[in-house]
Amino acid sequence: MSTPVIAAAAPAAPALEAIRELVGPKGWIDDPVDLEPHLVEERGRFRGRCLAVVRPADTAEVAAVVRHCAAALIPLVPQGGNTGLVGGGVPDGGIVLSTARLNRIRALDPADRTITVEAGMILADVQAAAEQAGLLFPLSLAAEGSCRIGGNLATNAGGVTVVRYGNARDLVLGLEVVLPDGRIWNGLRALRKDNTGYDLKQLFLGSEGTLGIITAAVLKLFPRPRATATALVAVPSPAAAIALLARVQDRCGDVLTAFELMGRLAVLFCCRHLAGIVDPFEAPHPWYVLIHLTSPRAGDPLTETLEVVLGEALESDIVTDAVIAQNQGQAAAMWRLREGIPEAQKPEGGSIKNDVSVPVSRVPEFLALATGAVEAAMPGIRVVAFGHVGDGNIHFNLSQPEAADRDAFLAEWDRFDRLVADVATGLGGSFSAEHGIGRLKRADMRRYKDPVALDMMRAIKHTLDPVGIMNPGKVVVDA
Ligand code: FAD
Ligand code: ZN
Repeated sequence: MSTPVIAAAAPAAPALEAIRELVGPKGWIDDPVDLEPHLVEERGRFRGRCLAVVRPADTAEVAAVVRHCAAALIPLVPQGGNTGLVGGGVPDGGIVLSTARLNRIRALDPADRTITVEAGMILADVQAAAEQAGLLFPLSLAAEGSCRIGGNLATNAGGVTVVRYGNARDLVLGLEVVLPDGRIWNGLRALRKDNTGYDLKQLFLGSEGTLGIITAAVLKLFPRPRATATALVAVPSPAAAIALLARVQDRCGDVLTAFELMGRLAVLFCCRHLAGIVDPFEAPHPWYVLIHLTSPRAGDPLTETLEVVLGEALESDIVTDAVIAQNQGQAAAMWRLREGIPEAQKPEGGSIKNDVSVPVSRVPEFLALATGAVEAAMPGIRVVAFGHVGDGNIHFNLSQPEAADRDAFLAEWDRFDRLVADVATGLGGSFSAEHGIGRLKRADMRRYKDPVALDMMRAIKHTLDPVGIMNPGKVVVDA
């Protein structure tokens, strides 16, 4: 079963004209300057091309656009904020369907603890709407000011609060989706329990636009945090970090909201390149952990709880030094250190990114083996490891050796991707923890994904999108 490659040329013109009329001037972009931001992606690895960017105003318009595309076999690439890190939103012909104008809140129901939003809402706006209602939408990542909720759901985004609230797919109760034939599936249910057969929404969560266009979602809301505590902790090793994680989980229970690991080089790069960041401790340490606790109970003594846990950990040598934020400003500075790492890596030259996961207990083994493998493959390579270690998710980024040529280093991307993925999968892990497959990881999909799983994926793709117009060439690869 294969996804056909589509030549859109001849029959496309009248369909495109019909789409242009349908969406009107506000919904149509074909000026090369305005198309540009839609053809490139965050890391500059892929450059695409398309006939136009279409920005429908509502679900009915999305459906009409898709029907025209299906009839004329015009490929369609859904795009939200275009912050994805695997080239999933980069078009290779056809049209880009931007969700930017689908940005309304359809309902907010405090009794059900749900918010129903359209796919083009910026993640930070969804968070703000929940907060205004005295509630919390917990999905949080560094791109939250520009990524859109449909993109978050289509990539099953992770981020920094997964240890407590789960991935994006765990935050969804219902979806509205435009299928590749233009039909609208109204699955906008707000049910916490619904055992009526296959959970179809899960197909679209993490499908990266290959099965349909998510146009709206019912999202879960949670109690708003009324007490928080944040600490930056120096630990002697990744094994100590994992031991500390278990202690914090045992002592603090579900108030643990983020548990992030940072290697020394990551911290050093931040101190070197980011304004206002200073080395957090007098002496350098090999590893650091950022711990964030939140509680809906005002006055919950989280700082005191952290003091006790960290004091005990200091005594048993799993913590070398620790500082607990005394105010919001100090907590924000700790987060700036963690979230600034990708930016701080840029002035250090070329960087090969790896987003992998292993069972939490195997993180120390992964870091030792992967570091050994890449250093043996290229002496002088600089490992910048950090990530959501509470979920076993490491961003195992590699900065070029100091004197190396940037482009020559980046040309080695596939070799290092494979070295690191070999180690992760060998430990029972995943070659893509939270960023997805898109265009970047198609070869890994062939190499590491279970063949039976791949067959099922191809069957689903073929059933829902038999002519292959929906984000062709992404995620699901031919046999
Ligand atoms: P886009 O980039 O526009 O699209 C991503 C994919 O989803 C594409 O394949 C696209 O076709 C598809 N898509 C988009 N909208 C829809 C829709 N409505 N229906 C169907 N398919 C659709 N990711 C994490 O998981 N965790 C992180 O911590 C994290 N941190 C990041 C930090 C930075 C600074 C940056 C730049 C990115 C980060 N990312 C992270 C990656 C990215 O932000 C997420 O993947 C995000 O969820 C993508 O949302 P978007 O709206 O930008 O989607
Ligand atoms: Zn991440």
